[in-house]
Amino acid sequence: MTSPLPLAERYERFRDSVFGGLAEAPPREWDDALCEIDVQSLWFAGEFGAEFTSTEGRRILVRDFGVWNAGPGPDFTGCAVEIDGATLRGDIELDPDVRDWERHAHGANADYNRVVLHLFLHAPEGVRVFTRDAGHREIAQVRLTPAMLDGDARPALELAAARLGRCATPLREMDDAHVASMLEASAQYRLQKKSVRLHAWVAAQGREQAVFQALAVALGYRNNQRPFLILAQRLPRKRLARLPAEAREALLFGASGFLESVRAEDTQPATRAYLRALWSGWWKQRDECLRWMEPHNALRWKLAATRPGNHPQRRLGALAAMLAAWKKIAAPLLDATRWSQTGWRETLLALGHDFWTTHYTLLSAPSPKPLALIGETRVQEMLANVAYPLLVPERTRLWAEYLELPAMLDNQKVRRAVLRLFGESPRAREFQKKLHHQQGLLQVYEDFCLEDDSACAGCPFPERLKEWR
Ligand code: SF4
Repeated sequence: MTSPLPLAERYERFRDSVFGGLAEAPPREWDDALCEIDVQSLWFAGEFGAEFTSTEGRRILVRDFGVWNAGPGPDFTGCAVEIDGATLRGDIELDPDVRDWERHAHGANADYNRVVLHLFLHAPEGVRVFTRDAGHREIAQVRLTPAMLDGDARPALELAAARLGRCATPLREMDDAHVASMLEASAQYRLQKKSVRLHAWVAAQGREQAVFQALAVALGYRNNQRPFLILAQRLPRKRLARLPAEAREALLFGASGFLESVRAEDTQPATRAYLRALWSGWWKQRDECLRWMEPHNALRWKLAATRPGNHPQRRLGALAAMLAAWKKIAAPLLDATRWSQTGWRETLLALGHDFWTTHYTLLSAPSPKPLALIGETRVQEMLANVAYPLLVPERTRLWAEYLELPAMLDNQKVRRAVLRLFGESPRAREFQKKLHHQQGLLQVYEDFCLEDDSACAGCPFPERLKEWR
């Protein structure tokens, strides 16, 4: 049972009233950087929702998102879709263009005879394209649009210019209590948005799988969140839980593509035994994952400018260690009444791994000293992006606990927001001490600075600030 968060509502009202008189934003277009598997990941996470209207005006309800298919045939199998009140069990295919169904000859391929829903992003203007299977049965179609996605699921926007903004003057004139209350409200609004997204995942995949996905994403840092999410979606926790620990880790590393990209002769002697163990587990499971090995389906890891300690191979080792201690890690997130920040933090900080506690990557030499598998910063990230967004709406007194969380290491976006809103004033330090300060600043920055294309001149925020009482 979740409760509305009053400060979040207040901020949302304020923000909406500021933009109320302005022209409506133009409809968003699909981002070219988003590839097919990114859209499949968004779909499978439930981020487009579960209720749609088909191209023919029929009511579509997705009851079960099924399994992300690793073999030949449609993208998702074992799904349940309700169409005008009748439940159909079968598969779902997602194509960039409605015409891809025929271009790829799915209509003549019996593997696609169980498809009950065809999803697509683009269609030709003014031409109706039908989807039919090999038996000429017409298949319901839904067009996915960027407007169906919540803001957080859309591609990241650029940074705003690095300079003091016009709102710095009215902010200077506001007393500390009002600035603090605005940042607390905008932080709560941000937490609520994260919560809505997590609960969409829960609705699509169940709570435990949603928690698994969210924790995997937190291991991806900024650059590798999407590949970690896709890996956790393709290898759901339930499937991994059925495997012995060695086979589970082998599957994670094999399906990630990391094993196949490393030659044993390039590795350190100490790594070879670990690689051998991973390969012996991976060979037995590889055939079930062949589709994910194809170049256009493979995960796209970003390794440039990644610090060795944050390398996704090491973080995947951390995910394997988390799965070994899963019950202890998941239990407080599955039931808000069992939450203990201290206990959860200690569980994560105590995780270790025979290989990854002393290695940065599969190619690196062993480190002379053990390295924390999951350090304080990562725990903070998981608290901020997973634990509290999931739990606060269910147990609102945890908001007071959230307010006490110290600030995380700053990032470029936080620095930019501080510079624009506070410049070099003492408030720049004062309002960066806590995590919620940073989150609140980021929210204002995203809502106003990133929506502004007038170099502050046309931004309504400075004039409307006095209404924040
Ligand atoms: S765009 Fe608006 S909120 Fe951002 S710095 Fe300029 S005046 Fe301030």
